[in-house]
Amino acid sequence: MDTIIVNGATYWLPENNNDVITLVNEAANNNEIICLRGSGHSFPLIGDLETEKKSSIGKTYRYIMLAKMYGVQMLDENTVKVQAGCHLGVDPFDPTGISTVENSLCYYLDNLGKASGNTSLNRSLPDLGGITHQTVGGFLSTASSGGSTKFSFEDAVVSVDIVTCQAGQGAAVTTFTKPASGDPDDPFYAVGIASMGLFGVIVSATFSCIPQFYIAGSETIEYADKCSLINLFGTSPELPNMQTFLEQTEYTRLMWWPQQNHIQDLSRMVVWKASRTNKDGAEAWAKHAYELMDVPPPPSADGLKPYEEVPYILGSPIPANIAANLLYRAIGQWPTWLKDLFGEKNHLEYEIIKVLVESNYATKIFPTIMDIFVTVDTPINKNKGPQLFSDRWYTGLPMDNQMSDQLMPVWFTELWIDINQSEQVMDKLKAYYDAQPITIDLSFSCEIYAARQNDFWLSPSYHQDVIRIDVFWFGYNQGDPATFYQSFWDLLAPFNYRPHWGKYIPDTVNGTSGVTYISERYPKWNDWMNLRNTMDPQQVFVNDYWRGKLGIPTA
Ligand SMILES: Cc1cc2nc3c(=O)[nH]c(=O)nc-3n(C[C@H](O)[C@H](O)[C@H](O)COP(=O)(O)OP(=O)(O)OC[C@H]3O[C@@H](n4cnc5c(N)ncnc54)[C@H](O)[C@@H]3O)c2cc1C
Repeated sequence: MDTIIVNGATYWLPENNNDVITLVNEAANNNEIICLRGSGHSFPLIGDLETEKKSSIGKTYRYIMLAKMYGVQMLDENTVKVQAGCHLGVDPFDPTGISTVENSLCYYLDNLGKASGNTSLNRSLPDLGGITHQTVGGFLSTASSGGSTKFSFEDAVVSVDIVTCQAGQGAAVTTFTKPASGDPDDPFYAVGIASMGLFGVIVSATFSCIPQFYIAGSETIEYADKCSLINLFGTSPELPNMQTFLEQTEYTRLMWWPQQNHIQDLSRMVVWKASRTNKDGAEAWAKHAYELMDVPPPPSADGLKPYEEVPYILGSPIPANIAANLLYRAIGQWPTWLKDLFGEKNHLEYEIIKVLVESNYATKIFPTIMDIFVTVDTPINKNKGPQLFSDRWYTGLPMDNQMSDQLMPVWFTELWIDINQSEQVMDKLKAYYDAQPITIDLSFSCEIYAARQNDFWLSPSYHQDVIRIDVFWFGYNQGDPATFYQSFWDLLAPFNYRPHWGKYIPDTVNGTSGVTYISERYPKWNDWMNLRNTMDPQQVFVNDYWRGKLGIPTA
């Protein structure tokens, strides 16, 4: 079996279920712990495990990546079975180099009718996250989800096949299928979503697909207090409030730049929203958009008008990513690089520039950055107002694919809160942000979106539609994001949030244990733990990260 070294960790690359079974049996026999990596997009989880190499109880980590297990097969016209190492879309930074657009799940589904010329065979999934670099195994394991209360990825999951290591059985594939009865106590709801790799290795999953669709939508950039779409802070009662907006809009996500200074309101709300349509609808929307802009459609657009998250220069988002990278690195690593630049000998020059920049940052520099990167819509901008867009489902819904993971790495903590509390959450956050000075290191954005409820026991949207508060941290910043996030973990604690499993998770909340806080949010926490212990009595799948975050005692 091949191996590959990623960030100093040697990963096994199984090619089929039997290889996985062999690896799990070897781990069990050698008293090792299995660590799985999908596309490695969960921070700090994957990085921590790759650094550790062995657990604090002395067991060596055995790293596995299913990069060679990306096969896709239609079981009938609507049902697809996919190996868990398959990426949803292409992962541009796949360390094995195996991931391509063509071998990704979404591309496969969207092109099912291509060979026969019968487009009615093309299929899709109901929803996708903001990027599609993830693997099927990773996306399922962390309960990742797109921004919709109307449709959900979870609804499409029919079954998962897992290599478990149960007592007396050794490693074997076990299938968990959605119960026809809908019985919410069925183990499928413990294992299918949000199992964090702790029940075993998901080797494949089966999804119920829907006909291919397109999306048409808009992105509106406004000062937050002048938002024309949502009654954000009670000042526009004629508009839907946040909860209603999240409930009524098919797909949406908001990017909030909440900063204000004493001179002017700098805060922006960027509202991306879209609805499903068909090909004709998407083309008509694109035509309308180009007419408004008064430019001819580029031939490459194929009758559509893809969303541009950043200005495209020479037909590419990369130059804008580079510019943003340089800027945010300069901000995030301030003033270390300045000090290095001047060296010890020119300390006075360093001090002068440092004071100059810091004293003008909130009033002059940051406002200029906002005007360049988060430019408020005007009737005479390039789009002649909000940006209108239309696209295929799998290229349009993941609106952040065009941001580079390497140039603009962003880390997050994401808190899922009952949607009924949306307005109170927004008010609380606004009061918090309004009281913060604009400082050079912490002037970044906060994403707001929603998710639909489901029955998966440890899904953060278990039995409630949620508003999701996703606090951003630029990956090249100095300092520890957990320190920054602690204020949000404490501030929002009264709202009984459940944190996203693939992002930063609190160790403490208002001074008490994070495990206690989180476990109390899940009615079926103990059932999940008991089932996990039964299915993995030897703790072959319990690494230090999850032992700590979930409070799993040693066996
Ligand atoms: C830029 C960016 C954008 C994002 N956008 C969104 C978004 O819109 N919505 C959202 O909900 N989340 C989002 N996320 C979070 C992301 O979806 C999760 O971190 C997801 O788990 C990543 O999938 P992965 O394949 O990289 O899994 P990894 O990060 O590699 O692994 C995550 C977990 O899954 C387990 N795992 C992986 N494969 C298997 C397997 N085959 N069997 C069992 N366990 C397995 C691992 O053990 C680990 O515990 C985003 C993250 C980034 C960095």
